[in-house]
Amino acid sequence: MSQATNYDVIVIGTSQGGRFLPIAFAKAGRRVALIERGQLGGVCVNVGCTPTKTMVASARVAYLARRGALYGVHTGPISVDLQAVRKRKQGMVEGAGNNFKSRITAVQGLDLDLLRGEAHFSAPKTLEVSLADGETREITAPLIFIDTGARPKQLTIKGVENVSVLNSTTIMELETLPEHLLIIGGGYIGLEFGQMFRRFGSRVTIIQNHPRLLMNEDEDVSDEVTKIFREDGITVLSGTTPQQVEPLSGGHIHLTVRTPQGEQQLSGSHLLAAIVSPTLKLSAQKLLASTWIRRATSRSMGNWKRTFLVSTRWVMSKVGQLSRTPLMMTSAFCAPTCLNMAAPAYRIALSPTPFSSIPSLGVLA
Ligand SMILES: Cc1cc2nc3c(=O)[nH]c(=O)nc-3n(C[C@H](O)[C@H](O)[C@H](O)COP(=O)(O)OP(=O)(O)OC[C@H]3O[C@@H](n4cnc5c(N)ncnc54)[C@H](O)[C@@H]3O)c2cc1C
Repeated sequence: MSQATNYDVIVIGTSQGGRFLPIAFAKAGRRVALIERGQLGGVCVNVGCTPTKTMVASARVAYLARRGALYGVHTGPISVDLQAVRKRKQGMVEGAGNNFKSRITAVQGLDLDLLRGEAHFSAPKTLEVSLADGETREITAPLIFIDTGARPKQLTIKGVENVSVLNSTTIMELETLPEHLLIIGGGYIGLEFGQMFRRFGSRVTIIQNHPRLLMNEDEDVSDEVTKIFREDGITVLSGTTPQQVEPLSGGHIHLTVRTPQGEQQLSGSHLLAAIVSPTLKLSAQKLLASTWIRRATSRSMGNWKRTFLVSTRWVMSKVGQLSRTPLMMTSAFCAPTCLNMAAPAYRIALSPTPFSSIPSLGVLA
């Protein structure tokens, strides 16, 4: 391996954080390395916000079409072509991905190196990057931003190795509608897919171990969302823990759950684990950026909703501006602070939460 290359700033991950931060630093004359091991744009563009919202839009059209007569508009029988929905989604993701790429690559004359490969800490303030072409490069910087986000979490219940379990990425690649979708997880991701597939025409059951859906929201918000979901014909089992899963004939799935009333047996055609965990393998033991940046990034590794709230509060206290997702906010506004420039003034804003089902939620911060 050749000698380490020195940068002023290194950003690992090209998602919400990686979108603004490296450019802001590079524009301020810093030498910057941006590292990405997967697709440019990370979760949000490729397998998170953009594709789900595109599919949510299709589901809303199906919902409105079915209710057309209530508005005095008569249509024929409604059916959903999931392959067409998926194709539309893929087009949107491609467009958003290209946008992202051009943003990063079109920065002419800036000292910004995009390294395609996987980073891990090899020493204090030092990263080893295994590049896609097989080469390994060592790079160092006094400031290192860990923007490695979260990824779908594996389900760990008994029997899980014998069945096929979907996650938030693979469910968007289905070519046919599930007859009965069992969803483990009553947070934003589970709810978005639950409502979406119900509107496409599937039967849906949501299993939530917490007593409420959307447990990070106020109780009245959770109650209202639960009511709306039940009115839409979705079965919501809250305070319920999955115990065991077994395969049935025809690819169906048998799921045993413990509800507050006792054990219950469910069967479905598809099982979705709507849970995420941080990607922080690269290792907390060597987090070496400056203290407050470290706080921001390491908090941002947790549950993305919790992160959103924590980071919102944290960023508000530091730089006083609100935006959409945690590191996007952090990035957009911490660069000037890191560079000792004036921080933007405080601003009150109505910020949409990441929950894009109907009705949408808003948070006044
Ligand atoms: C299904 C779904 C729907 C969502 N919908 C919304 C929404 O509507 N609105 C919203 O605001 N949020 C939404 N989110 C959340 C949003 O996607 C995340 O908050 C956001 O992507 C977090 O950005 P990030 O920069 O922290 O990390 P990520 O987007 O996870 O990106 C991290 C990047 O780091 C790279 N990386 C990881 N480890 C390494 C390494 N060792 N070396 C090099 N590169 C590495 C990864 O390849 C990835 O590209 C959704 C998430 C999901 C899963």
